[in-house]
Amino acid sequence: MIVRTTSVRVVDDDEALERFRALLRIPTVSHAVEERIDASRFDEFTSSLAEAFPLLHEHLELHRVLDHSLLLHWRGRTGERPVVLMAHIDVVPVDESAPWQHPPFGAEIHDGSIWGRGTLDDKGSLVGICTAVERLLTQGFVPDHDVWLSFGAREEVSGPDAPAAVEELQRREVEPWFVLDEGGAIAHEAFPGVEAPLGVIGVSEKGTTTIELRAQGRGGHSSMPAPGGPTARIARAVVRLEKRQFAPRLPEPTLEMFARMAPHASLPLRPLLANARRLKPALERVLLAAGAEPASLVRTTMAVTTLQGSPAHNVIASSATAAVNLRILVGDTVASATAHVRKAVADDSISLRVVDAGEPSPVSPTDDPAFELLSATISEIFDDAVPTPYVMMAATDSRFFTEISPRVYRFTPFRMSKAQRESIHSYDEHIGVTDWLDGVRWYTRLIERLADDRD
Ligand SMILES: [Zn+2]
Repeated sequence: MIVRTTSVRVVDDDEALERFRALLRIPTVSHAVEERIDASRFDEFTSSLAEAFPLLHEHLELHRVLDHSLLLHWRGRTGERPVVLMAHIDVVPVDESAPWQHPPFGAEIHDGSIWGRGTLDDKGSLVGICTAVERLLTQGFVPDHDVWLSFGAREEVSGPDAPAAVEELQRREVEPWFVLDEGGAIAHEAFPGVEAPLGVIGVSEKGTTTIELRAQGRGGHSSMPAPGGPTARIARAVVRLEKRQFAPRLPEPTLEMFARMAPHASLPLRPLLANARRLKPALERVLLAAGAEPASLVRTTMAVTTLQGSPAHNVIASSATAAVNLRILVGDTVASATAHVRKAVADDSISLRVVDAGEPSPVSPTDDPAFELLSATISEIFDDAVPTPYVMMAATDSRFFTEISPRVYRFTPFRMSKAQRESIHSYDEHIGVTDWLDGVRWYTRLIERLADDRD
């Protein structure tokens, strides 16, 4: 194969950074309303990606999925145990009133960081994977296993692209040994009392489900109200839900996380974490009381998000609704959660309708060579970090890949401070220049190491 001089230069860190910045400047913004999506930006991204990574596009077979998602096939020495590396092309919109310090699509460098939408979520990973592949190709590298790159264009709006990519892989009878998507990080300041950064690898995701509660009544003129109307019954239901939360339960990956964190924890915390399995009930109570974030670790949560009654001030509602958004913890199901809501509401006159059903993802194994490969590569590149499994709160496209692989992991190989993690989907999203380059090295080593990890 001809090695083009342009692609040799991507070996150079400065050149790699310039290509990353150029791709960040293309506003591939997703909207739930299809008409608001500017398709030309996605076309521009696809063609710019091809220009930035010529060897990748020469050696890997490209399949378009739906309109703008990409599935790239890199043939390895053997077709056995293929691996899927995922990332997404789209980004969430920018709130114009948010106080960004630097333009969100400027990809400017300040204080050693690149600033902009998509730096962390998720072009950092997408371009990181491509840079790693391009670099390996300049060396004539052939992976041991087939490597598939799956880049979705509508992750942020839960579009049909990821299920379509899964269907395409099924059609080709690809059964991935493991799948790696965004989520997790080298998380600094992740847990109070633990100094070391945690290399958190998501092994399950909570399921997102919405249930609509509806109460009906006669309605009528507001000058002659009768007791127990639809709004009153809905209000009572909302209060009952608030009072009857799901019982706390520490899932196995969280217990495993505590065990792995224990040796790195401050002295008072150490015995508690080290004996988490034995102290489970006490720990569950402590986490419940420690605030909304720790509480979300140990139970299925419910939030009443939308409320609706009558459209006019002087009209009694003939129908009132409340939407309950649930984040279902592994161990619960849409059916069991719906049963809990019905019991908590305790009012037969209120109807329940599951508007959106999302089950929690099955738990991927941690006592496993694939998990071990990810952990060992984390330890190699980030020697201060503690690799550990965890349960993700957010949803990723990888949940659809649990259909075709029992090993679906979510890990983004970048150091992130608490502020950086909070900037995702918010403002001032930025990534350290050296942190991005370390991430590129992580992906490179992961692909190289696939060869070392035969069963
Ligand atoms: Zn994302």
